[in-house]
Amino acid sequence: MKDFEAYFKISYGLYLISTDNNGKHSGYIANTAFQVTAEPSQIAISCSKGNFTTDLIDSSGKFNISVLCQNTGEDVFSIFGYKSGRDIDKFAEFEYFNSPNQCPVLKKDIIAWFDCEVKYKLDVGTHIIFVGEVTDYDLIDKSVEPITYAYYREVKKAKAPKNAPTYQKETDTKENIEDSDIKWVCPVCGYVYIAEEGDAHSEIAPGTAFENIPDNWKCPVCGVHKEDFIAK
Ligand code: FE
Repeated sequence: MKDFEAYFKISYGLYLISTDNNGKHSGYIANTAFQVTAEPSQIAISCSKGNFTTDLIDSSGKFNISVLCQNTGEDVFSIFGYKSGRDIDKFAEFEYFNSPNQCPVLKKDIIAWFDCEVKYKLDVGTHIIFVGEVTDYDLIDKSVEPITYAYYREVKKAKAPKNAPTYQKETDTKENIEDSDIKWVCPVCGYVYIAEEGDAHSEIAPGTAFENIPDNWKCPVCGVHKEDFIAK
């Protein structure tokens, strides 16, 4: 009983949630965004109280949900998924435009977006659920598939950032590190290099030991340098 794998059978997408409060903007990657009503159209998001963007949404009363495409760049995951808007202006690294309600939206890797005005707010402990009414939306590219959380976990072999509602500390670690002597783990996103699989992203052949990967190799998920990987 209580097989943690059960949690991974719940399906999610991955989204970039952003907002702007009087010129101060930020955003983060979330898997918990879902439409809750059709008339009017309302979408809910569950935001960690630890996220800078959560404070901004609480103040601004608005947010934008952008749907990420399947081949979203590692730079987007690295900056928006694993860094804090308290430390850097995340959007400064990218080209973006302002949506009709003045929230920043990336010009790349986004296939659709929704502007929302906060109508309800629910404190659920570590997170706040905001329900927003959709005030505007657009489809940018219908030929590209949206990324799912399962794809992100299985293909990119990443684990959730610690502020994600679905973060499972013990399980994520155990799942990625079992059955081995030493595993090389990305300290930022939790990606684990598996020698038997190599890294197709960087043309590292299956069977290549971590020690034999070129020194300029980087984490395929978030771009951390090889030298910063941790042996566990
Ligand atoms: Fe990484």
